[in-house]
Amino acid sequence: MKAVPVIFLDRDGVINRPARPHEYITRREDFVILPGVYGALRMLRESGFRIFIVTNQRCIARGIASREEIDALHGWMTEDFAANGCFVDGVFVCPHGDDDNCSCRKPKPGLLCQVQRDIETAEGLTVDKTHSWMIGDSLSDEKAGISYGVNTVLIGGEISPHNDGRIHITARDMLDSARKITEGRY
Ligand SMILES: [Mg+2]
Ligand SMILES: [Zn+2]
Repeated sequence: MKAVPVIFLDRDGVINRPARPHEYITRREDFVILPGVYGALRMLRESGFRIFIVTNQRCIARGIASREEIDALHGWMTEDFAANGCFVDGVFVCPHGDDDNCSCRKPKPGLLCQVQRDIETAEGLTVDKTHSWMIGDSLSDEKAGISYGVNTVLIGGEISPHNDGRIHITARDMLDSARKITEGRY
């Protein structure tokens, strides 16, 4: 199976301004896209990456928002991206809470595995893990990327070394991440 490089993107704190602690972004009025995100998405796309968003949304398990409301928010986000020349291949959501013990809530790698199954089924392609990246702003993103087996960027954090043959770097924001990845500046 031919393998393609993929960017796995966390949502809150990477694409949009994060909610305050213990709050959730469920409505478009509260969904503020961070500076540099459009440019970063275009840069990554032009470099040949598939781009998927992988996001924990425990607000669904807690009944704060319905699955339909979150899907509608992502539909609006995708349209906003398109209006700004950006294309995202898909948005994968973990709707569960800690007690559900699912396999998709990051730091578990289940959402990334779902992306892989999706492109294998839909396109007969798989993920080139050596050249793929997880970009996130929390250690659970970093851990999900490491346990799936890709390179990682931790935005605004400290990374510890890993002997997994992959690259693990930090960046200021998504644009800085995209520049480092596409220019190979580690
Ligand atoms: Mg985040
Ligand atoms: Zn889940």
